[in-house]
Amino acid sequence: MDASTPHCIDTTAPALLICEHCDTVHRRHPLARGEVAECARCGAVLERCRGMPAKTMLALVLTALVVFVQATLWPIVTLGLNGQYVDATLWDMIHMMWVDHSQVVAVLAAGTLFVFPLGKILILGWLLMYARNGRRAPGFRQLMVALHHLGPWTMSEVFVLGALVSIVKAHLYFDVLPDPGIYAYGALMLLITVFAGIDLTRLWDETRDEHAEELP
Ligand SMILES: [Zn+2]
Repeated sequence: MDASTPHCIDTTAPALLICEHCDTVHRRHPLARGEVAECARCGAVLERCRGMPAKTMLALVLTALVVFVQATLWPIVTLGLNGQYVDATLWDMIHMMWVDHSQVVAVLAAGTLFVFPLGKILILGWLLMYARNGRRAPGFRQLMVALHHLGPWTMSEVFVLGALVSIVKAHLYFDVLPDPGIYAYGALMLLITVFAGIDLTRLWDETRDEHAEELP
């Protein structure tokens, strides 16, 4: 499909659409850029046309990966008391929680701030690498389902807000200096917000399984 076409839906897309929420079947209409199709019965979004080609999304995912690595490796804050300064990365904080008998919180933090976001970025990168050529990556079906389930477990935006509140509060007792890691998390939060608005289900329509029989 030509990325410059004004419509999102190519002619080979299925003619019918089923609402994920109420199972109503709709006839598919081509959407113009920026248009959203909603279910006539329950109002759920059926599909949207953001006009962002897979190539652009892949570039965004790679940017997110670079920013994510920086956010994880760089110190987030430096705390100072009586002239002594200590900086802490995400892993220092998780380690501190673990030895401080807050193992459950440590595991939750490691999952929602590291394992799940990294999983999401890597899966998206893998899928888009193939999707930019209109192909389905190996494991496409399972990975699309995994992405759907990973969605609610990536909470970098909650973390950034929490960290900002903590920095303001800790300022009463310590010298608190924000470090590059917190800015990287801020940038990651913006990228995640951009991604939240993209309808990934259209990858089903925009890619073709190479092993499946070609339609005439
Ligand atoms: Zn519906």
